[in-house]
Amino acid sequence: SCVRSYPDFPQPGIIFRDIFSVMQQPTVFADLMDVLIDYVKAKHKDIDAIIGLDSRGFLFGPIICLQLGIPFVPVRKKGKLPGDLMSTTYQLEYGSDVFEVQKDSFKPGDKIVIIDDLLATGGTMSASVDLVKKNGGVVEECICIIEIDDLKGRNKLKVPFKSFIQF
Ligand code: 5GP
Repeated sequence: SCVRSYPDFPQPGIIFRDIFSVMQQPTVFADLMDVLIDYVKAKHKDIDAIIGLDSRGFLFGPIICLQLGIPFVPVRKKGKLPGDLMSTTYQLEYGSDVFEVQKDSFKPGDKIVIIDDLLATGGTMSASVDLVKKNGGVVEECICIIEIDDLKGRNKLKVPFKSFIQF
């Protein structure tokens, strides 16, 4: 009930679930962060990094990383990151896009948790899993706060997946 929904955004027929509305309710935001931090601490005692997806994964990942004392690594859309990069192309409803990660941001064999705000079709998350694997990382789990469960995006992921709120 704390996630505000916007019918017909960004196009007719889509109900947009706005995670920023949660961040504007400080006690709810604090509760949400406690839930996320407790979950990752209990389940992933020896992960090497958390990867956050452009752009709302950047809101939550770093806060969890600070509590665990591990690095935060961004996966970004093409053209935003400097240095040597690994990239992967993924399909959108119309056309395609490219995700990039810095090659030296984690080592081959590192255990990684990937976080984003919301899983819909699963295209964004599965492209990120591919990218991390291509760069030698081991994806322990993907985490989203919200899952649009009738789209069955989790079936696209070949790794464990956890969500905390389902629409
Ligand atoms: P997917 O690739 O799973 O279809 O879409 C997930 C990506 O699109 C995520 O990066 C997420 O931030 C964004 N997204 C799609 N629908 C929504 C929505 O209703 N609310 C929010 N906050 N993000 C959405």
